Amino acid sequence: MKSAPNRPGRCESGQVSTPDIAIPSHMLPADGRFGSGPSKVRPESVRALADHAVDYMGTSHRQVTVQFVVAELRNGLSELFAAPDGYEIILGNGGATGFWDCATFGLIEQRSHHLSFGEFGGKFVKAAAGAPHLDEPSVAESEPGTHPELVAVDGVDAYCYPHNETSTGVMIDPARPDDADAITLVDATSGAGGLHFDPLATDVYYFSPQKALASDGGLWLAMVSPAAVERIERIHASGRWRPASLDLKLALDNSRKDQTYNTPALSTIFLTGQTVSWINDNGGLPWAAARSAQSADHLYGWAEQSPVASPYVQLDSQRSRVVGTIDFDNSVDADVITEVLRSNGILDIGGYRKLGRNQLRIGMFPAVDPDDVLALTACIDHVIEHIA
Ligand SMILES: *Cc1c(COP(=O)(O)O)cnc(C)c1O
Repeated sequence: MKSAPNRPGRCESGQVSTPDIAIPSHMLPADGRFGSGPSKVRPESVRALADHAVDYMGTSHRQVTVQFVVAELRNGLSELFAAPDGYEIILGNGGATGFWDCATFGLIEQRSHHLSFGEFGGKFVKAAAGAPHLDEPSVAESEPGTHPELVAVDGVDAYCYPHNETSTGVMIDPARPDDADAITLVDATSGAGGLHFDPLATDVYYFSPQKALASDGGLWLAMVSPAAVERIERIHASGRWRPASLDLKLALDNSRKDQTYNTPALSTIFLTGQTVSWINDNGGLPWAAARSAQSADHLYGWAEQSPVASPYVQLDSQRSRVVGTIDFDNSVDADVITEVLRSNGILDIGGYRKLGRNQLRIGMFPAVDPDDVLALTACIDHVIEHIA
């Protein structure tokens, strides 16, 4: 963590002391949730869950009521991502973190190549490096706030990188390196549903639904290509040992029956389906991506105009449209802004701890109303004025 003994709002120990600033209620956003994950869940989704509670929650995931909701979700995601012929949606338990372990057992054949430019890309590298049956992964890194280039690497059978690095607010356009035999695994946890992409550039587009898709955690979902399915089946047939809970062949077989190998969180499945239908009913991915881009244009535009703030990511093409990172100069303590806003009901805009910057990080997923991002920056300006 940064040490900033002289920053306004800090007492001598360096702890934040929160100034008592009440933001006028007419300035506040309608919804104060701007977290980058878990992120805002739409109240409409929660109400729909309550409406269906008695015939859905607490019922068997092997029966048609739940299977129907899973089927709707799988179909809805295929529609949202414009799934190419032969691509299918699979799901299982354990979130994106669990999926990294699934991939080390069931998708990486011998050696993976990773783009590592933040916390989450780096965690997948650790998972692959720790797997005793795989070779040491190849890793391209870059300065925080940027991403490395994706280029083909000899002797690699899987390319792995995040669509959006949630820790730094850097996005990358999914692409396939010039390597016919390898598959491409894209971690879309904070990108899926909020960012454009070419589905044909990916073999596995996987994510947890509690970030861009405004749901709850615990589940992973993935759109897999025929080449990825072939890879899963080939590794399975090779007899490589894998724990059942991380076995992608079991996940594939169960998903095709609109089930999971073991019991999933039914509320997470339901809430994810609500977000997906909401987006599809309003114009699909182009609509959702435009909504996030509108929020992002405002946030970065505001920061560029501000005398004390600036966008952290320098290259506009790499600046995330779903997670905005904003640096502050030393006259302002971002942690104080975060705490004052928290005391006014505006939540979870602190920077990613391990980055250690004087920074705010703002979730601008499709569920977040662009008008609320406008209200948020006005509130930040108000707080800065009143701290000084
Ligand atoms: C949050 C996040 C993860 C981890 O998701 P879990 O559901 O906690 O496993 C992985 N990748 C990215 C890009 C994330 O933002």
